[in-house]
Amino acid sequence: MEKIFVNTPSKKYPIVLGKKVITELSNHLQKYHKNKKVVVITDDTVKKLHLQTLEKELPDFLTITIPPGEGSKSREIKAKIEDALLERNFGKDTLLIALGGGVIGDLTGFVASTYYRGIPFLQVPTTLLAMVDASIGGKTGINTEHGKNLIGTVYQPDAVMIEVEFLKTLPEEEFLNGLAEVIKIGCILDKDLFEEIEKHKEGILQRKEELLLPLINRSISLKKSIVENDEQETGLRQILNFGHTVGHALEAATHYRRWTHGEAIGIGMCVAARLSEALGRLARRDGARVTRLIRTAGLPTQAKGVPVTSVLRALRYDKKFIHGRPRWVLPTRIGRVILTEEVPAPVVRRVLAEHLR
Ligand code: NAD
Ligand code: MG
Repeated sequence: MEKIFVNTPSKKYPIVLGKKVITELSNHLQKYHKNKKVVVITDDTVKKLHLQTLEKELPDFLTITIPPGEGSKSREIKAKIEDALLERNFGKDTLLIALGGGVIGDLTGFVASTYYRGIPFLQVPTTLLAMVDASIGGKTGINTEHGKNLIGTVYQPDAVMIEVEFLKTLPEEEFLNGLAEVIKIGCILDKDLFEEIEKHKEGILQRKEELLLPLINRSISLKKSIVENDEQETGLRQILNFGHTVGHALEAATHYRRWTHGEAIGIGMCVAARLSEALGRLARRDGARVTRLIRTAGLPTQAKGVPVTSVLRALRYDKKFIHGRPRWVLPTRIGRVILTEEVPAPVVRRVLAEHLR
């Protein structure tokens, strides 16, 4: 079992990673939340697969189950959870446990941050994406018809408990979704991590635990270091958006139906690498490596059949737009990126056209 401590201005808390971590969760509750009312929030899929692991280890708790999927990150479901708690007279002495993927984590964190003006919550992520990304950093939120994650808070959990065994039941597509974010972290911050994935891609895709554990640990440590330095995303944290500028635009332009998030940012990372090459800031060899790794991880590198104009239009609605221009995260070599608004529109158009053919 490994422990990583996160130290943000608002809170210090542990991330525990390994096997049989739920025993550790039980100890944590005993030690820090002895007389609290414990509520597990999960979705129907995760409940069937993994709630029993918690039932075996934890004393009495209430379970609130919501439908799986992004659609549950809504005002309506948030209100339903709050009403379920209020009806039972659960007050300030309540502890929430988010058992599930990023949807459950973001929603539970948001409920926790406003319920009785803030109650503690724990993250027990069950998808690779939630383990390496969504459960780290304290961003919480819901979606509205105006866009994703536009309503939310920055609210840190009390602890994050990562049971790597949960990954065994994860569908392939969801696994790749998380792997795309790991590749992203390698590209922006850590050449060694990038090369580890290059070297062991087969074993990683077979989910060999001895490969996954160090990969998850490394990704968390890197995201943690960014979050510690920029909890509120005023600068540095923006580098985590590598691949997401075009990725989000592609998702929006296709109404979130054509690709998973991981697939869309796979394409987005390839576009960003090519943009950087076109500007003379990235060696062709390194650009090719980024594209190759994304392809061998089973993610797309091109977005055939999407009109450039619809992507450009979607780009304009991105919340990362500064003074009407997108802020690009561009690689300058493997493990290094820069933030820049200085990318001429014709270059963007040309590189997009190459990838959207
Ligand atoms: P998700 O929570 O929708 O989970 C994906 C699917 O996998 C769901 O159907 C779920 O029921 C199922 N599932 C979960 N664990 C499983 C398991 N162990 N075995 C089998 N099935 C399982 O999706 P996600 O990719 O985990 O998270 C996406 C969300 O995370 C988005 O809403 C995104 O905005 C958010 N996010 C937040 C942050 C942040 O910093 N807070 C960062 C990245 C993403
Ligand atoms: Mg992402």
